[in-house]
Amino acid sequence: MFELENIVRKNILCLKPYSSARDEFSGKDGVFLDANENPFGIFNRYPDPYQKELKKKLSELKSIAPENIFVGNGSDEVIDLAFRIFCNPGKDKALTFSPTYGMYDVSAEINEVELIKIPLNESFQIDLKGVKKYLNDKKLKLIFICSPNNPTGNILINIEWVLQRFKGIVIVDEAYIDFSNTESFISKIETNPNLIVSQTFSKAWGLAAARVGTAYSTSKIISLFSKVKAPYNVSELNQKAALQVLNNTKEFEKRKFIILEQKDWLEKELNLVPIVKKVYPSDANFMLIETTNANKIYTALVAQKVITRNRNSLVKNCIRITVGRPDENQKLISALNNL
Ligand SMILES: *Cc1c(COP(=O)(O)O)cnc(C)c1O
Repeated sequence: MFELENIVRKNILCLKPYSSARDEFSGKDGVFLDANENPFGIFNRYPDPYQKELKKKLSELKSIAPENIFVGNGSDEVIDLAFRIFCNPGKDKALTFSPTYGMYDVSAEINEVELIKIPLNESFQIDLKGVKKYLNDKKLKLIFICSPNNPTGNILINIEWVLQRFKGIVIVDEAYIDFSNTESFISKIETNPNLIVSQTFSKAWGLAAARVGTAYSTSKIISLFSKVKAPYNVSELNQKAALQVLNNTKEFEKRKFIILEQKDWLEKELNLVPIVKKVYPSDANFMLIETTNANKIYTALVAQKVITRNRNSLVKNCIRITVGRPDENQKLISALNNL
């Protein structure tokens, strides 16, 4: 049985959160002399600490109640808060796969949590036998599953297998879910009390500069996130930016369509380039390619002012390429053919 109280750090369970001036009165018109703000200017007031309007909109879009939504300063805040809520520094452990998103590593290190990494199999899927060995470790509190996975690009199957067997928290990082044909795990929160789904405005929603990330989970888990976050963790400007893109889904769909069309074009073109040995199938807006010599090709591309991501240290001779605008993708193919 999953018992949330057994997984949360004791000091966090007992924590009495900071009560901000705006907690006591939430109306819009009034004479606000409560928060030591400057009465002059346009960005002079603190933002809504609960991001109510944004959560209401997300709630409609994702078909989940506002109590089940956390909005953070990028998904990187979600990752960091998860470590801080569930893992006692120097004692508890987390688990993820390899290769995957590098921030799990960095955040684990910062929070002094040992991160176990299980290599993905040849198809870049979860090695179930490898995971099984760790599932009963009492010190293991968190499992990070990135799907579609970065940098391999594929959806991970068998997430439910892990969810059903692990008595700690499973975080499914869906930064790229909007590019894939697969359904989000948000719909599985109701039946899985140990599931957190994280998403972001940085990729398909085109707001990387704004730093807005979201987490979806049970209201109990979300209230822990809200308790631990900085009171005004998402600025007014960034809440507005997120609302603006959510209110223009037509543009969102149009851009996504172009990106996916370009992905197909790139895949076809890349397969014709002699120094490209393999193009891995992708459910995201990037592709992992195996080349004859990643270090050399990466550097030669930089010299032509085309910047890709050298993933040679993670997957031998592989480069990760983001799908750009049509003109940018054309430049990439010409640059590769010039080498
Ligand atoms: C890009 C990316 C994110 C996004 O992080 P933000 O802090 O929201 O910009 C999260 N997870 C993965 C796997 C990513 O590749």
